[in-house]
Amino acid sequence: AFEQVARAADIPIYAVMAAFREDPSPMKLNLGFGVYRTEEGKPLLLNAVRQAEQLLVNDLSADKEYLPITGLPEFNKLSAKLIFGADSPAIKENRVSTVQCLSGSGSLRIGADFLAKHYYQHTVYLSQPTYGNHPNFFAAAGLAMKTYHYYDPKTNGLDFQGMLQDLGAAASGAIVLLQASGHNPTGIDPTAQQWEQIRQLMRLKRLLPFFDCAYQGFVMNMDADALPVRMFVADGGECLVAQSYSKTMGLYGERVGALSVVCKTTDVASRVESQLKLLIRPMYSNPPIHGASIVTAILKDRYIHGVYILSALQDGREMYSRWVTELKQLTDRIATLRQQLHLALLDRGTPGDWSHITRQVGMFSLTGLNAEQVAFLIKEYHIYMSPDGRINMAGLSSKAVPYLADAIHAAVTL
Ligand code: PLP
Repeated sequence: AFEQVARAADIPIYAVMAAFREDPSPMKLNLGFGVYRTEEGKPLLLNAVRQAEQLLVNDLSADKEYLPITGLPEFNKLSAKLIFGADSPAIKENRVSTVQCLSGSGSLRIGADFLAKHYYQHTVYLSQPTYGNHPNFFAAAGLAMKTYHYYDPKTNGLDFQGMLQDLGAAASGAIVLLQASGHNPTGIDPTAQQWEQIRQLMRLKRLLPFFDCAYQGFVMNMDADALPVRMFVADGGECLVAQSYSKTMGLYGERVGALSVVCKTTDVASRVESQLKLLIRPMYSNPPIHGASIVTAILKDRYIHGVYILSALQDGREMYSRWVTELKQLTDRIATLRQQLHLALLDRGTPGDWSHITRQVGMFSLTGLNAEQVAFLIKEYHIYMSPDGRINMAGLSSKAVPYLADAIHAAVTL
């Protein structure tokens, strides 16, 4: 029955990872997949997550019943507060529909399917470049894709004028996928002033923002990283938001995230939610409970009887602040690695301006290395990265910096 099935091409980043696994070299370095690694190159389980899991294990009233189609209600409320702000008018006015989805990916896909079925415009604009899986979600939903300028290879910075021009030329109502902070793969985010210009232009042109928030807290802090989303919500307009806890809580394999649709009225939000249920029910029926329970335990530690606690250390409810502190340690370490790599390249007199490595933010750096140089790094130095020259800074360690700098130096002076 299946003899005619053609072999699909390997998914590029998975092919890089497979090559890494098979490489016997003791020097090998994995800067491909976007996952956090310790200085020893090991995965990290956050103490806040460990503590939350312990609570769950000890909670004798807990069960493993099915969740509702839209997930754990408390998780949805807390996720919305995390991204929109605890006193967001849109939440207070009950016009946000938030549903627990299978992490950022599942949220993007459900959002894409929702738009394909219920929104009149079927073109989505993606940044050039963007996260490798983005086009797949929208293609699978049957939406047409276009790109907007984003990365300027000349400056290794933002091509802001190009971005505004492309958005200005988009058809009215087109969907625009935006990354709220820690842009993957470029590590370049617009400034607050630039976001304000983007917002004004998009609202003028009635473009629909779809925010992907996979790195909230990975750049500055929970609130600052949510700023672009909050700017678009503060003007009373609509938007979609996909949240992921993969990177921010290190819950990659738990597949925990949320899709929010900000609407103009409570009635619309409740109709939207009814349609989201119809999309989810035939797909996986309802989401998994464990990851969402961990996130809920951590996020709700921020509130006592529903009141936001400024000093989350009160009353022994420290999981939220422990999480934020741990996340800060991770991001500080990544910033240090950026500085170390930049200095190591300066020390070697490596041709080119490498200051973008420290200017870029979040987990990734688009190094500017071309495909040939990347292939050289893999072959000669066993350093693996995605073919576009993106490195996962969180996969680097201080002790590997000199080796990586030697390799980059060799690649660009070939
Ligand atoms: N969005 C961006 C920008 C990402 O970088 C990623 C993962 O790398 C995702 C979404 C999806 O991740 P997940 O499905 O694990 O939340």
